[in-house]
Amino acid sequence: IQPFTPRINCICCIGAGYVGGPTCAVIALKCPEIQVLIVDKNQDRINAWNGETLPIYEPGLDEIVKHCRGRNLFFSTDIDAGIRDAQLIFISVNTPTKTYGIGKGRATDLQFVEAAARHIGQIATGKKIIVEKSTVPVKAAESIAKILYSNIDDNVSFEVLSNPEFLAEGTAINDLLQPDRVLIGGSQTDPGIEAINQLAWVYEHWVPPSKVLRTNVWSSELSKLASNAFLAQKVSSINAVSAICEATGADISDVAHSIGLDKRIGSKYLQASIGFGGSCFQKDVLSLTYICEALNLTEVADYWHQVVVMNNYQKKRFARKIIQCLFHTVSNKRIAIFGFTFKKDTADTRESSSIYVGKYLMDEEARLVVYDPKADKGQIISDLREVSSQDPQRVDRLVSVINDPYDAAKDAHAIVICTEWDEFKALDYEKIYNSMYKPAYIFDGRIILDHAALLRIGFHVEVVGKVMKK
Ligand code: NAD
Repeated sequence: IQPFTPRINCICCIGAGYVGGPTCAVIALKCPEIQVLIVDKNQDRINAWNGETLPIYEPGLDEIVKHCRGRNLFFSTDIDAGIRDAQLIFISVNTPTKTYGIGKGRATDLQFVEAAARHIGQIATGKKIIVEKSTVPVKAAESIAKILYSNIDDNVSFEVLSNPEFLAEGTAINDLLQPDRVLIGGSQTDPGIEAINQLAWVYEHWVPPSKVLRTNVWSSELSKLASNAFLAQKVSSINAVSAICEATGADISDVAHSIGLDKRIGSKYLQASIGFGGSCFQKDVLSLTYICEALNLTEVADYWHQVVVMNNYQKKRFARKIIQCLFHTVSNKRIAIFGFTFKKDTADTRESSSIYVGKYLMDEEARLVVYDPKADKGQIISDLREVSSQDPQRVDRLVSVINDPYDAAKDAHAIVICTEWDEFKALDYEKIYNSMYKPAYIFDGRIILDHAALLRIGFHVEVVGKVMKK
């Protein structure tokens, strides 16, 4: 067998999103001898990567991009050139959930992965390593290989690797610089092992070799879905416990602290809240559920699906509590939503729990005033329009987005903390209280505020997983 030995001096990444952008910016930073070309079909996104304000907000990203851009890091819509020049090509395109399905699960929509693979198959010549960076169902690499070879001429050969990304938005740069592990799956043939070694060589510019794991492709693909399912399950587990706390007087902070000190469990992802959001957790759990259903593993599918059921319940339970506390009606009441992104330190609102809490309140005719330090105003409105049972014009009348938290809270009946932004802890709540409608309520869906201080000011305080003294 001919060893598969491309010399990697050029990497292309198809997809300049939350994963492709930061991941390849860090590769450019740590591998100055490698040219890194990030390509995307979205001209606006590429313009933003080449401009002053990057298309995504991620602490530390600006500095890296501005240091490397024009040296060994390039952003372009010229996908053909990227495919032609690179020996190693990441596919880092979006893999959303299909909106339809017959079971409880939802298949991953692989249309963008297929389009990227077809594009590579049409343009590539020579030897190429194709790296699945997108999160995909187990066995997707098999389909990718078939698509790549559907246009085969004799002068091209591909090795398909799986190298899922474990970064979390908001801490992406840190996660990339100091990953818990880098996972590379490939075929266990000589060319496959050679390709794995090539990609490992890239990461080993800054990641200790002991953290670079080598597996077969299917283990790698499944590890990513299973990791996200475990994390989502941990959030749903603590949220399930928070409901028991509210019904009994146990305190979720004490319970979570106690659980988390057990080294077998660990304290991360044990923060009770209004539920997980983001573009990945729900999508990946639904994808795993779908795979289990397709494999006739019905009980296993039901098990994982319950993680999503619990998450949806938590969002609804929180909204219901707001409505109950506000004398069972929020109709025409001004409610200030503090935080719209799915977590702090990102501008990403995809699948944010705030969207659904907002929806449930709007369904009962509440007037929402949204303040978020980073989320885009147009995005907030369009997210709410998309899920609302109200018609779009009604949504526009019910929702306003305001740049200042004090203005948002003025004349409001309640403040609802939906995202754990640090700045919410430092606001002048005395000033806010004085400007609000009375009785003034705060619903802390992230357990971040000083509740005793708020009670002293005069607020009615409701917190996930706690029974507050009145
Ligand atoms: P994204 O939507 O931010 O970016 C995807 C980009 O791919 C878009 O800019 C889109 O225009 C581009 N694209 C799609 N098809 C293309 C094509 N054929 N040619 C060129 N460009 C194309 O998505 P993301 O958040 O970066 O996620 C990418 C993948 O990584 C997904 O599979 C996701 O599940 C996974 N992932 C995401 C995260 C996260 O935190 N966002 C973390 C780990 C893994």
